[in-house]
Amino acid sequence: MNFSELGLHPSILKAVEATGYTEPTDVQAQAVPAALAGADLLVSAQTGSGKTAAFMLPSLCRLAEPSAVKGYGPRILVLTPTRELAMQVEKAAATYGREFRRLRTVSLVGGAPYGPQLKQLSQPVDIVVATPGRLMDHMERGKIDFDRLEVLILDEADRMLDMGFIDDIQMIVARTPKTRQTLLFSATLDGVVGKLARELTRDAQRIEVARKEDPAAQIDQKLHFFDDPMHKMRLLDALVRDATLKQAVVFTATKAGAEDLSEELRDRGFLAEALHGDMPQHKRTRTLDRVRNGRVQFLVATDVAARGIDVAGISHVINFDAPRQAEDYVHRIGRTGRAGRSGIAVTLVGFRERHLVRNIERYTGQAIEVATIPGLEPTIKPRPEGGKRPWSDKPGYKGKRPGGEWKGKPGGGWKDGQGKPWGDKPGYQGGADRPGFKPRGDKPHAAAGQQQAHKPKRAERFW
Ligand code: AMP
Repeated sequence: MNFSELGLHPSILKAVEATGYTEPTDVQAQAVPAALAGADLLVSAQTGSGKTAAFMLPSLCRLAEPSAVKGYGPRILVLTPTRELAMQVEKAAATYGREFRRLRTVSLVGGAPYGPQLKQLSQPVDIVVATPGRLMDHMERGKIDFDRLEVLILDEADRMLDMGFIDDIQMIVARTPKTRQTLLFSATLDGVVGKLARELTRDAQRIEVARKEDPAAQIDQKLHFFDDPMHKMRLLDALVRDATLKQAVVFTATKAGAEDLSEELRDRGFLAEALHGDMPQHKRTRTLDRVRNGRVQFLVATDVAARGIDVAGISHVINFDAPRQAEDYVHRIGRTGRAGRSGIAVTLVGFRERHLVRNIERYTGQAIEVATIPGLEPTIKPRPEGGKRPWSDKPGYKGKRPGGEWKGKPGGGWKDGQGKPWGDKPGYQGGADRPGFKPRGDKPHAAAGQQQAHKPKRAERFW
C-alpha cells in the first residue's frame, strides 16, 4: 500500500511524501482511512509504530476546510501524558501540515511558563496539544473553549491513567462537544483503559496492531557514571577495547564533538570516522558504505545523521554524550540489535545529568542498569538505592503536594488539606520554628519569628 491510497487531502499527501516515507505503517494503513470516514477509534499501538501520523494525518485533513463554527478555540485537541510527547506531536503537526498557509498549534504543557501559553490562546488556534493538568488550569480560568472542537485525540491513554490523570481527562472530555470524533491510542486497551475508552467513544472501531517484538528487548542497556571529562575519556577507552565489540556507533551531542572524538579515536589507533549533518551527502554515503563493509569500526555520529542507519554488524551503541531527549535515546540504541541480533547500549552520564536518565527511564518504562568497570569506578556515588525520589516521579503525581490542592487563583500558592495557604496557618512563623532555621540577616520579620506578610508569587502576576 502507498500513501496515495489512504484518501488523504492532496496537501497533506504532498507533505507526507516530502518526509521521504515510502509506505504507511500498519497502524497508519488501518487507522487513517477509518478516521477519514469519521469513525471513533480505539487503537492499541506502541511508540515507534507510526501512531502519531496515524492520528495527525486524518485530523489535519479536516483543517483543509474552514470551520463551520465561529470562534477561537481549537478544532483538534491532543491530550498527551508528557511534555516530550507533546513536543513530538507538535512537530508532527508542523511537518504534515506544512502545506497549510497558517496552521496554528499551541502546546499547553505543565512545567512551562503560563505567559506565552496565554498569549497564544488569545488568538485563534487550530490544534492544541496538551497535558491534562495544564489544560485543566487554562479551562478553569476560562482561557479556552471547545465550541469548534472536531477531533479529540488521547495519545498514550494508558500512560495518562498511570499518571493519575483520569479525573482531569473526564472533566476535559465533558466540556467538549458531543459531535466530536474521538481517537484513543494506547499500548493496551485492557482494564481501566478499556473502560475509559468505552465511555468516551461511540461505536468505536477497534484496531489492534500486532505487537512487534520490542526492539529494546534484545538490547542490553547500561549506564556508566563519570566524575569528570578525563574519567569519561578513560571509560570510553576501556569500552572501545571490549573484545566483544565488533562495530559501534558512538554518539556525541555536537558535530564538532563528533569530529574531535573520531580524530581522538584514530589517534589511539582505531578505525573511526565521523558522520554528521555538515558533511555533504556523498561523503556521508561513502562513510556509511565503509561502515557496512567493515572498514570503519567506530562511527562517531550526531543524532540527526544517525537516523535510519541500519547496519547488522553494529554490536554496540555508546552514548558518549547522553541524549537530551528520551526519544533520541530510543532511536540511538535502535542502531544496534538489528535484524534480530542482540546488542549492547552503553550511556555515559555525568552526575549532573541524572535527570536525563530519569526522563529516558520514564519514557521507555524500563530502568537502566548502572554498571562499573573495575579500576574505573566513579568516586561520586551513583543513585542511592531506595533514595528519595522527587514528587514528580511518584505514580499519580499531578503537580500537587500530599494532601494539598493547587489553588491556582490570584493569591495562589500551595494550600494544605483544609484549603488554607501555608502562610495563613495559625502560628506560622515564616519557617522560623523549623529545626535548623537560620534567619537571613536582611529579613527582620523572620529573625523575630513574626508572621511574614504575603508576598505575591510569580504565577500570580498573570491573573
Ligand atoms: P511514532 O510511533 O509516532 O512515535 O513514530 C515513530 C517514528 O516513525 C517517528 O520518528 C516517525 O517519524 C517515523 N514514521 C512515522 N511514519 C512512518 C512511515 N510511514 N515510514 C517510516 N517512518 C515513519
